[in-house]
Amino acid sequence: MKYSEYSVVIIGSGAAGLYSALKISQQIALPDGIILITKSKLGESNSMYAQGGIVGVIHQNKDDSVELHVKDTINAGAGLCDIDAVKDISEASDVVINDLISSDINFDEDDNGNLNFTLEAAHSVRRILHSGGDATGKNITTGLMKKVLEDETITIQENSIAVELLIDMDNNCKGVILYNELTGEHEIVYTSALVLATGGVGQVYKYTTNPECTTGDGIALAYNAGAIIQDMEFIQFHPTALALSSESKNRFLISEAVRGEGAKLINHDGKEFMASYHDKRELAPRDVVARAIFSEMKKDHASNVFLNASIIGCKKLLDRFPTISKKCRENGIDISQKPIPVAPAAHYTMGGIKSTIEGRTSIKGLYAIGEVASTGLHGANRLASNSLLECVVMAYELADYLSFANLSIPKKIDEAIRLTIEKYSSALSDDEYDIEQLKNNLKNIMWDNVGIVRTQESLKKAKEEVLKLKKEFKRDSKCLNTQEYEYRNMLTIAMLIIDSALARKESRGAHTRMDYKQSNEHALHTEVVKSTERKLVNVE
Ligand SMILES: Cc1cc2nc3c(=O)[nH]c(=O)nc-3n(C[C@H](O)[C@H](O)[C@H](O)COP(=O)(O)OP(=O)(O)OC[C@H]3O[C@@H](n4cnc5c(N)ncnc54)[C@H](O)[C@@H]3O)c2cc1C
Repeated sequence: MKYSEYSVVIIGSGAAGLYSALKISQQIALPDGIILITKSKLGESNSMYAQGGIVGVIHQNKDDSVELHVKDTINAGAGLCDIDAVKDISEASDVVINDLISSDINFDEDDNGNLNFTLEAAHSVRRILHSGGDATGKNITTGLMKKVLEDETITIQENSIAVELLIDMDNNCKGVILYNELTGEHEIVYTSALVLATGGVGQVYKYTTNPECTTGDGIALAYNAGAIIQDMEFIQFHPTALALSSESKNRFLISEAVRGEGAKLINHDGKEFMASYHDKRELAPRDVVARAIFSEMKKDHASNVFLNASIIGCKKLLDRFPTISKKCRENGIDISQKPIPVAPAAHYTMGGIKSTIEGRTSIKGLYAIGEVASTGLHGANRLASNSLLECVVMAYELADYLSFANLSIPKKIDEAIRLTIEKYSSALSDDEYDIEQLKNNLKNIMWDNVGIVRTQESLKKAKEEVLKLKKEFKRDSKCLNTQEYEYRNMLTIAMLIIDSALARKESRGAHTRMDYKQSNEHALHTEVVKSTERKLVNVE
């Protein structure tokens, strides 16, 4: 098998992957260079589609403070935030956001040239920075891509999916196996620092705001390698995705900022309903709004409710939400005149690979940053716009951490690694799979049974059905192509979510059990670890 060696290997080209590549390259003289590997085109990611903005607890905002932001984050997190992680990320935000600004990432300003902060649900002050109105993710991602492409020390490899981590007998991560879609071959990359920046798991659900690449690969790879996986039951369902039909499609997001600017949710009778669910109405925490909409939809036997944004006024809508206005117009909806059909969709993965804010995990040499990681920042429910902040702060802190690490390439390949590599030289059985259909079956099972509300019965039913799908898919390690690898990973993710949801016998944040409606005052994080004989590193 073809192999290469790099001091640092980064998997994923969203905000976390791109910014970490840039910071590491700027800060560290790497003996063997750095490679950024991504499974489709550079920048194709959740980050590219982020609209509303990024939390900026920065000195330019006199109304805000770390204390206020910490309080709001912890309130939204429903008692499960890691307070140190929240404080550290909030405190780092001033330096990191200002570093982005000095790296030519422009945020919108008012007529006097001051940064323009907006409000989103469950924030007590205006603190969300945005760019291009509602194109924040696109502008951050393309801005970072430009810098990464200009940096000659960063090698980029597209169309390559990471399929297995190389872990030695002492539980050190020594590299990764890739499947290169262009050559149809498997390749090995050895390294001393393997960074997973592979994003979330939205694609395991029938309705999601996430693009195709979000199949949970990084979490599945880390789980298979024996890393601690935390809080997978907490999947955030965004309340307002554009619901044009009930087909199984990735859904365009109608950002929370639209509600932040005054839009109202109405049911099929044209009546506002949020007042009967929460005193903050449209700006209640996301899980509350998503459940309220779900409940209205059930009451009306409907597949959507509506968001009336006409109150905001035509000019402001066009200035502030150009992308949303355009997308709706293309689908025959003038949002200054007509209400927008919306419904909840899977949006964000609060759980993931247990890690510190520098991305350290329970496996030495393996780092996880961004949405793939679980630092405890979000607890049981993410506060809007905290995720892009977490991505860039973790990337920044990782670069700092690695500047003190020994980044020389491991020379010794032990028996555990040799056996892992050997599997990829074997021939595949000639079973054929309709992966598109199999993925759809899985997404339906997850949406119907492991969605916005769950019960022991629905979770057990899902488990039985997913186990059946697993049994029918006879590829344990080596697969035929990217689609098969993604499906294999989605099956693993589905099981992790189901098992964690079964284990949490309470309702908390984004996890609603109809059979355990109360919260348990002694609630802890849920951890799942594949049984291996490896000694794990303490993630503190
Ligand atoms: C529609 C939408 C709107 C959002 N709006 C906001 C917002 O306004 N504010 C906010 O803070 N957050 C928002 N979020 C959430 C936020 O965008 C994400 O949490 C964040 O961008 C995640 O960044 P990331 O770099 O961790 O992962 P991603 O941006 O998802 O990047 C993951 C990368 O890894 C690659 N990859 C995955 N698996 C593999 C593999 N096996 N091998 C190689 N490459 C792989 C993918 O192709 C991709 O390039 C939004 C999300 C969506 C979907």
